[in-house]
Amino acid sequence: MTHALAIELKDVSKKYITKTGINYAVDNVNLTVEAGAFISLVGPSGCGKTTLLSLIAGLFPPSGGEIRIFGQKVEGPTSQVGYMLQQDYLLPWRNIYQNILLGLEITHTLNRETEEHALYLLEEMGLIDYRLHYPHQLSGGMRQRVALVRTLATEPDILLLDEPFSALDYQTKLRLEDLVSSTLKKHAKTAVLVTHDLSEAVAMSDRVYVFSRNPGRINTVIEIPPVISEKTPLASRNIPEFQTYFQRLWEELDVYEDR
Ligand code: ADP
Ligand code: MG
Repeated sequence: MTHALAIELKDVSKKYITKTGINYAVDNVNLTVEAGAFISLVGPSGCGKTTLLSLIAGLFPPSGGEIRIFGQKVEGPTSQVGYMLQQDYLLPWRNIYQNILLGLEITHTLNRETEEHALYLLEEMGLIDYRLHYPHQLSGGMRQRVALVRTLATEPDILLLDEPFSALDYQTKLRLEDLVSSTLKKHAKTAVLVTHDLSEAVAMSDRVYVFSRNPGRINTVIEIPPVISEKTPLASRNIPEFQTYFQRLWEELDVYEDR
């Protein structure tokens, strides 16, 4: 089970058949993510980022190519992969405590031990005092933290994060980036983040993949050096190297601006 490569995509493509024709949402994508690494996907809207995450999650098969998770071919969703979205999808009629146990209930893994682990994560996120509150009583940042606890409660090895911070105000977003980063490092998770925020991509990742659109392809890969990636996302923004990498990413994406 301890395969050094958490995610492997080989010549992966996905085409959607629509009324107007064939849409190559993802075309010939090759990428590998080492266990414990944090990578980001950036690119113009419609370049296939969400499609790619859904493929990795096993929600539907690729049209071509192969996807492996820890060496095993993906043939459907597994509890090894957790998926967190921009919208938190907390159930409004369940309190926070009941919400964080949802994944465990669905996967039939709810027991004394897993319940205690979920509560421990809730404590770690600073929300233990809110366990009897309902989602509508919480702020956006708190709700996203609950959603993260719920995702982590089933102990996935890999986390797929589709713009999880984009609906939050700037300060909340920065704080949550640090919290998510330290939590994932502490629990040795592998993560794939989709973001529109280039500084977030530089601050959080070991590597950033820049995609182009129509068809969705990897255009550039930018390695973020340890001097940045070893710092917390917030602290990394203050070192001079940060600006260099932000600028490089900006220039790569600028190319698509007027298309
Ligand atoms: P991104 O997340 O980068 O914005 P998506 O993966 O959502 O991109 O979409 C990639 C392309 O595939 C877009 O052109 C989009 O319109 C198209 N697409 C996404 N989902 C479907 C679908 N279910 N049916 C048809 N086309 C789709
Ligand atoms: Mg998307």
